Amino acid sequence: MTVKALLATPGDGQEVVAKGWVRTKRDSKNIVFFEINDGSCLSSLQAVVDKSSSISPETLQRILTGASVSAKGHLVASQGKGQGVELQVDEVKVIGDAPADYPLQKKRHSFEFLREIAHLRPRTNTFGAVTRVRNELAAGVHEFFQDRGFLWIHTPLITGSDAEGAGNMFQVTTLDVGNPPKDESGQVDYDKDFFGKKAHLTVSGQLQVENFACSLGDVYTFGPTFRAENSNTSRHLSEFWMIEPEMAFCDLDDDRAVAEAFIKHLLNRVLNNCEEDMAFFDQWIQKGTIDSLKEVIEKPFAHLTYTQAMEELEKAKEPFEFRPSWGIDLQSEHERYLTEKVVGGPIAVTDYPKDIKAFYMKMNDDGKTVRAMDLLVPRLGEIIGGSQREDDLTKLEARIRSMGMEPEEYDWYLDLRRYGSVPHSGFGLGFERMVQYVTGMQNIRDVIPFPRAPKTIAF
Ligand code: ATP
Ligand code: MN
Repeated sequence: MTVKALLATPGDGQEVVAKGWVRTKRDSKNIVFFEINDGSCLSSLQAVVDKSSSISPETLQRILTGASVSAKGHLVASQGKGQGVELQVDEVKVIGDAPADYPLQKKRHSFEFLREIAHLRPRTNTFGAVTRVRNELAAGVHEFFQDRGFLWIHTPLITGSDAEGAGNMFQVTTLDVGNPPKDESGQVDYDKDFFGKKAHLTVSGQLQVENFACSLGDVYTFGPTFRAENSNTSRHLSEFWMIEPEMAFCDLDDDRAVAEAFIKHLLNRVLNNCEEDMAFFDQWIQKGTIDSLKEVIEKPFAHLTYTQAMEELEKAKEPFEFRPSWGIDLQSEHERYLTEKVVGGPIAVTDYPKDIKAFYMKMNDDGKTVRAMDLLVPRLGEIIGGSQREDDLTKLEARIRSMGMEPEEYDWYLDLRRYGSVPHSGFGLGFERMVQYVTGMQNIRDVIPFPRAPKTIAF
């Protein structure tokens, strides 16, 4: 039985076995207490050894923080406060010793230090809780879409297009980078590369998933994406997971409604299923998280157009680093001002200037703005970016050209507008930003098992 199951069992003296890692040990005159944690839940199981029992002093000495143990005994009502049951140990085996240099001794370590031992940090309370909440969110993502009949599409991670409209890309090659083959003009000869042309890791599955939306209706991707941006922030990773729903016969208002329902579904699921972990975050990481998330679930999300948002920012008496003016991209400080000061909750901002958004977004009649939607939340700013897609072939071709790109490169994408074009929309939710939002964790590197960021790939 897992520790979680044992803790949920009434202690009426039945014989049980618990396996896990020792978190702490306390030695008193006649009794040794130690706590067994197996990751099944935040709490550990208290194990109690009577020193007069048949367990040898040598074995008791080897029960040290970090050691793995198997303890057999009787589950009884706990004498101490806090826990319902404890294990009166009859037999204990140390499965793997942890000498005294075990790096995770019982004290609070900084998250910076824990990043240096990222292989061991899942054994801490915080990372155990993050990992369980992350899992719950992933299950909630599939639950939300599967219950609504969306198909999960596995879009490729390696792509042949060198711009997908979002960020810089990592190149994928099997050429000898020290001595690549050259063509007559002295350029690297990509005909000789693995795919016979330049290839990259995807920054988004959207372009491919649109093809499935325009055939199968409601679809989504959920997988890793890669961005080679030198962003050393607490909100950017080089490898992160993204959820990208795409819906046919769907305009921007529908898209926004789905985004709101989706976020609320995820919050509800975590609050219902991760009570213990959420109470931990509320106490130790971000005070008031639970109440503020409950409030978010209850209220409709605010909505402003970019132009209205800009008006709010321009009249704000706030010492912004970047002066707000119509046409600039919203900076993180602006996003936070809007969510934290103007609205006090999530806010959808729509209809951005075309020049700061990707080529595929549908042009509004004003010729200046596009049907884009970003969802901003307190503390983090943007967690969702989405849009209605341009479904008019002529307009899309013109837009691709005006951005200095070749329509031929996107022929397969343009075919959707050539044959049976439909209004369709979608968005991308950054999965780690969602984990940050729910847990209150400050740094995105602490909500993914092994973070990839500039100069960071040790594990
Ligand atoms: P930002 O402006 O915050 O850098 P973006 O506008 O480049 O993000 P999009 O291309 O709109 O991002 O991607 C959709 C979502 O993916 C974002 O709303 C965000 O939640 C997430 N995201 C984008 N870039 C990253 C990143 N480098 N690391 C983690 N999540 C990211
Ligand atoms: Mn965006």
